Parts: sequence; C-alpha cells; structure tokens
Amino acid sequence: MAETIFDKIIDKSIPAEILYEDDKALAFKDINPQAPIHFLVIPKKQIATINDITEEDEALVGHLYTVAAKLASELGFAHEGYRAVMNCNEFGGQTVYHIHLHVLAGKLMGWPPYTDKPKHLE
Ligand code: AMP
Repeated sequence: MAETIFDKIIDKSIPAEILYEDDKALAFKDINPQAPIHFLVIPKKQIATINDITEEDEALVGHLYTVAAKLASELGFAHEGYRAVMNCNEFGGQTVYHIHLHVLAGKLMGWPPYTDKPKHLE
C-alpha cells in the first residue's frame, strides 16, 4: 500500500504537533486548520479510505472516536460540542489516503457542509 505523509508523522520522520499517542493511534494538529481547534486522529495501521475498513478494524475505528472524546474533554470543548468527521475519496474531499478523523471545534459548525451544489446534483 502506498505510503502517505501520515506514515512519516507516525514514524516521526517529519514533525507534527502531537496531542495524543498510544500503540494504536495518534492525534496531531492539522497543519491547515479549518476551525479554531482542528486536529486529526489516525490509526497507526495503514487503511487508505473508509471503504477499506474491515470487520477486523471495527475496534480500532471505534478507538479513534474514544481518543477524540478524551481530547475534547481534556481540551475543554466536549460539552460545547464539535464535529468529528472522516472524508472518503474525491466527493468526500479526501486528500490523504490514510484514514483520519477530523476533529473541529471552537466555532459553531454549519450544515450541510458544502457551499455549492454538490457534484452529484449538478
Ligand atoms: P482530507 O482532505 O480529509 O484527506 O484531510 C487531510 C488533512 O491533512 C488536511 O486537513 C490537511 O491540512 C492535513 N495535513 C496534510 N499534511 C499534514 C501535515 N504534515 N501535518 C498535519 N496535517 C496535515
């Protein structure tokens, strides 16, 4: 499977502002934040997209949410609320093909999460 920039963050060959790490997951600040607080929670296992998640990965993917909630509590925005979202492939806006949970906070989120007519409705 092709390496991504997130593998380099996992093996520490490129720097990142790491917020949490254990044997299965890593959380670090997004380099191009889209909200006052924006970090990513990723599995250390390389899984390219949501479509590649298997039954074997169910606990691991659940763990990403547990880490997100733990950090939300520690950083003080759990009660106020936040968005935790995973983009998949082109229409989902995915650019790095190693699954990651975006955690965005510190601002009132809008819905729906697009400004133009989505491509599939054009
Ligand atoms: P996505 O578009 O859902 O695949 O999200 C990829 C995210 O990774 C984007 O929000 C990028 O800003 C972020 N990103 C890319 N490279 C880095 C990096 N070296 N350190 C931290 N975040 C990164």
